[in-house]
Amino acid sequence: MSVSPSLPAYPGVRVRGVTRAFDGRVVLDRVDLDIAPGEFVALLGPSGSGKSTLLRIVGGIDTGAEGEIGVPGKVAVVFQEHRLLPWERVWRNVTLGLDGGRLRERAVAALGEVGLTARADAWPGTLSGGEAQRVALARALVRTPELLLLDEPFAALDALTRLKAQRLVEGLWAEHRPSVLLVTHDVDEALLLADRVVLLGDGVVAEEFAVGMDRPRSVEVPRFAQLRRRL
Ligand code: ADP
Ligand code: MG
Repeated sequence: MSVSPSLPAYPGVRVRGVTRAFDGRVVLDRVDLDIAPGEFVALLGPSGSGKSTLLRIVGGIDTGAEGEIGVPGKVAVVFQEHRLLPWERVWRNVTLGLDGGRLRERAVAALGEVGLTARADAWPGTLSGGEAQRVALARALVRTPELLLLDEPFAALDALTRLKAQRLVEGLWAEHRPSVLLVTHDVDEALLLADRVVLLGDGVVAEEFAVGMDRPRSVEVPRFAQLRRRL
């Protein structure tokens, strides 16, 4: 995938001095961010802090930024809305835009990973919100991404469905080990899933810290309380 601004392909994420302004208003101000291969990073920050903008720049969707970006060759994105085409069956949505043979077979395999083999021939309109997001996840997985970009993928789901979807992503990540950039405004979700939490504020990375691997996963309590106050 072509990314502009660009660095040579990089097996993780490397963001250097990325600046993005809209109508003269600077949203991202020389942002630096690294994600190691296979690392799961959660990007937190108040609404409007530029999380989605940064994700779109990393994904090559927004090409209007200045600075340098290095990403791997295979990147896939899941948004808050499933963005499935209602006039295409589920399996066709999963493989939309892909070349090559055995597309249905590949779609069914990816749907199997999210527990939806049985819905391969369904129309998107007949799916629940949770199922539609799992199809969106299958559409990402079928591309065997080295980098998975998730922009609040669980935000529109009810609490129980969200928990199941989070567990699903956790399992898929452990199995396939892509690098992940998860945009969320949910501190608990970030602590549940991520190796590292990055807090965006005032156009820069205001703070970042590793998440402890103990159960329940935690960060130092004072920092956690401080983080909650800032969101
Ligand atoms: P977040 O995802 O953290 O809530 P966004 O990245 O969506 O924030 O937006 C950051 C800021 O940039 C907001 O003030 C938003 O209005 C602005 N913005 C984002 N995209 C555009 C655009 N295409 N045109 C104009 N302003 C935009
Ligand atoms: Mg956003």
